[in-house]
Order: sequence, then C-alpha cells, then structure tokens
Amino acid sequence: MRPAARFAAPLLALTLAVLPAAAYEVNDSHFHLTNYIQRGTDIHEFLKIMGDKVGRVALFGIPLQQTWDYGNSGDFAPTYYLQTDAPLYYYSFTDAFIAMAYKSLTKEEQARFDPMITGFNPTDMYAADHIRRVLTTFPGVFSGIGEFTIHKEFVSSKIAGETASLTNPALDRLLDFAGEVGLIALMHSDVDMPFPKPGQEPYQVEQLRDLFKRHPKTTIIWAHCGLGRVVHPVKDQMAIVEKLLTNPDLSHVYIDISWDEVAKYLVATPETIQRAADGINRYPDRFLFGTDEVAPTEQVKYLKVYDMYKPLFAKLTPEASEKVRKGNYERLFDEARRKVRAWEKANQGGSK
Ligand SMILES: [Zn+2]
Repeated sequence: MRPAARFAAPLLALTLAVLPAAAYEVNDSHFHLTNYIQRGTDIHEFLKIMGDKVGRVALFGIPLQQTWDYGNSGDFAPTYYLQTDAPLYYYSFTDAFIAMAYKSLTKEEQARFDPMITGFNPTDMYAADHIRRVLTTFPGVFSGIGEFTIHKEFVSSKIAGETASLTNPALDRLLDFAGEVGLIALMHSDVDMPFPKPGQEPYQVEQLRDLFKRHPKTTIIWAHCGLGRVVHPVKDQMAIVEKLLTNPDLSHVYIDISWDEVAKYLVATPETIQRAADGINRYPDRFLFGTDEVAPTEQVKYLKVYDMYKPLFAKLTPEASEKVRKGNYERLFDEARRKVRAWEKANQGGSK
C-alpha cells in the first residue's frame, strides 16, 4: 500500500507513536505478548510491528504456564500445550511482567495499549482478590481482565487443580468485581464440545447465557464467539449469536472475531462470508476485530488474521467496517479506562 514507508523506516519509527487515531487501519482487541512458556516479543519491537497499521491493542500475556516435566518429555522442552501431556498451571507473574513492559514505554506509546489482568485461577474464590491486588500494585495501567478461559478444547482438561466451570461461584465473584471496577472482561468459553455426538445438547450455550445474564453491569467480550480449532460452528451458529444479540438482557455482551482458526470458518465460502457479514451489518456495535496472535516476530505474521478477513470487511457497510475495526474498541476501552482510573483513585487516593 505504501511502498515509500519501507525506505523511510527510521524516520517513520520516530513518528509512529504520535499518529492521530484516524491514521490507523485497525485496533486489536485480543493480543498475547507472551506464549505458554512466558516468552514473547519485546514491547518496543512490537510497537514497530504494529507500525502505522494498528492503532491500539488490548495487551496481555497467557495466564497458563506449560510445565516442562522431565518424566514426560525428557530433554524435549515443550513450548505449546499440544506438545506434552504435562499439566498447565496458573502463572500470576504474567500480570507484573505485562505491567512492567507497559511502564517501560513513553506516555504516547502507552496510550496505544490497554493492558489486561490474566494471572488468576477462575475456579478460586480468591481470584477477585488477585485482580484487586494487581490494580492497587500497578495503578494507572490496566483496563480489563482476560483473556481468561473456562471451556477450551485440549486446554481446560490439562490445567492442574479444579476444572473450570461456567457455574462456579468463583467466576461470578470475579465478574461482579470486574463490573464494580469497570474492567472489561474478555472471556474464552467454547460453544460446544470438540467432537459432539450428532444432536448432543450444547449445554455450554445455556450456561453461558445464564452467566451473562447474572452480570448485567459487566462489559463482557465473548472471545471467538465460542469457536475453536475443532469446535466448529454449531448448526446455525449465527442464529445462536443473533439470539444473544437481540436479547435485551444481554446488551452488555460483545463478540470478538479473533483467531485464524475462527477466520477459517467465517471466510470458508462465499456463503459463510455473506452470512457473517449480514450478521455484523445488522449489529455493527457488537463485534470487535482481534488477531489473537501470540508473540509475533513480524508484521506479516501479526496481520495474518486481518488479511484473512479482507473478503469479510469488503462485504460490510462502511459504518459497520469502521466500528468493527476501530470504533467499538475505542468506545468500550475508553470507557473502561475512565472507570478503572476513577476506581483506583477512590480506592487508594490517586493513580500515579
Ligand atoms: Zn487468545
């Protein structure tokens, strides 16, 4: 698009942090700076990868650490949860790591990030206390919680300790607290089992709806509208999503269309593209773009999902396209920033 930019890189880098919001193409509501072994991209490098394409990013690590269990994989050091049978465990230090990365930036650079708290165990009644502690230790930093996970294919069953559930009061307690503070809650919960028997009831749909209903004061983003690597769109996925979007008790729930595994379903055929576009055009305020990239090393890889969605964006009205790419992010996260800063001020007398 802008071949001159390649040759003017050093000059461009100096000005990137101060471009007006309208100059960017897209905001990213779902991004992991670090991976399952807590390694990732240096945040200053990542700013260069965002370049003049991505304006703002919801920034988090991954709350789960893959154990390197010598008895299981020997000298092979797993870096991903599919590479070993050894368990995952909650790694709270991720929040301090993300906060310190954010604090290493200039004020102008910080304005491009919305850090999120993820290092809590959603089956623990004390999870909300962890979030409170992170906010009071690092005031002025965080805008939300998540991405945290309840049902996720191949992952949930590998986590040491109690299995997460949508009906656990610990989850209610932490969503209540997020609502009280004004933190956005970005939650991953699959809409169905990985390999359901034909006609099997997707019980997660009802449990999710009930959970969302119990927390009307919390802004919730449902990650990937419940899809996964093999959790494919349940029969009439769009009908389920529309039911959610038209329910007046669920007007606080939003959907992110992040992850290449999700994009592959939505852009599979001209028909799936049209169906997804029709849904988004009907409810343009309720969808957010996200990449779900993990620790990318270059812009091409980082924007892979954005490029996959080109045919979908082409089918959106100009208004819907603008909202999904940028406007909804700015509206929700600006509000979260305002509310969380106010809570911090009220709860410890100043946010700096
Ligand atoms: Zn993710």
